[in-house]
Amino acid sequence: MLELNGVSKSFGGVHAVRDVSFVLEQGEVRGLIGPNGAGKSTLVNLISGLLAPTAGSMTLDGLPLKGKSAHQRARLGIARTFQNLRVFPSLSVEQNIDVARYAAGGAPLVDAAIAEFGLRDKLTARANALSYGDQRRLEIVRGLALGPKVLMLDEPAAGMNEEETAALGASLRWVQREAGCALFVIDHDLKFIMTLCDRITVLDMGAVIAEGSPQEITQNPKVISAYLGE
Ligand code: ADP
Ligand code: MG
Repeated sequence: MLELNGVSKSFGGVHAVRDVSFVLEQGEVRGLIGPNGAGKSTLVNLISGLLAPTAGSMTLDGLPLKGKSAHQRARLGIARTFQNLRVFPSLSVEQNIDVARYAAGGAPLVDAAIAEFGLRDKLTARANALSYGDQRRLEIVRGLALGPKVLMLDEPAAGMNEEETAALGASLRWVQREAGCALFVIDHDLKFIMTLCDRITVLDMGAVIAEGSPQEITQNPKVISAYLGE
């Protein structure tokens, strides 16, 4: 569904993403792991259209994404959350969600998602009055309100405790079942990624060094030396 072909991005002399190719299938839950500075956020920025690649191409359902703005890509079904939160701080929870809901012409699943992510009793609260975890969950629901084909989550469990992280994993599985959209999930928490994802892509120094099921990834010697550091 989402296909990357030889995608690269350099910032001056820094090769942040190198020759990355993969296919994200409809409804799949894909993890993206790698050390700090591996290029994970840059890759998400390239897919969402915030950055233009220096080489390579991307398609969504066969449609070339080259030249499409971040806004156009969101309308085509590519939604994302940010490593550093970007909710509208002075808008209410409901207004934050409605901005996306109306942009997309109304996504049928939104009310159920609001309940699933524990925001039903907080709709009138200002976003900046929410706990950090609730702000992260709000960003996810806002992404879902776009009715996406793929939802990319940049470190959704960052700052969450073990219990919150487990609940987030269960809710993301709910999203995959109910919304049927593909999830592309970056996180440092290996347990979270390993239990959540069907397949995992490992980046190191901008390049894909491994791809496979959680079990294949944990047994891959390249991954063990590059990422797990053991
Ligand atoms: P990750 O998310 O895996 O930690 P990033 O994608 O944020 O990694 O960064 C990958 C590399 O690209 C790093 O070396 C980082 O310093 C560099 N980089 C990222 N964004 C920029 C930018 N806007 N300008 C210059 N260098 C950048
Ligand atoms: Mg990052």
